[in-house]
Amino acid sequence: MYNRKNEAREERLRQKLDAGLMSDRFPEVANIVVRMKYVKEGTTSLLRTLNFYPGSHAFFRMSCLGEGCVDGGLDLTRVITMMIRNHKTSAKGELRCENKDPSAVHADMAYEVSMKYA
Ligand SMILES: [Zn+2]
Repeated sequence: MYNRKNEAREERLRQKLDAGLMSDRFPEVANIVVRMKYVKEGTTSLLRTLNFYPGSHAFFRMSCLGEGCVDGGLDLTRVITMMIRNHKTSAKGELRCENKDPSAVHADMAYEVSMKYA
């Protein structure tokens, strides 16, 4: 378990580096603010805000934070690339963990994205 978790973390780091920088991938974007509310098992919630700048990695996959969930995640990549393509400045919605393993706890997430263009 420990090793699988470590491997998953290294894999995420590799994906993050592979994603490239915001300034290369999305030069038209000045700033992205992602506000997330994680909900685990319908009760505990956690608020998290992420900021992306031109020097940030264009990596929008968040880990699940669920107990026992090793390589699940909540992926905002599609949401964000669609926003940029349509030049939208705000979006909100919900995501579920991609890992459907019933023996682990998984998180749901409500998100709000606001975007500023250069
Ligand atoms: Zn999960």
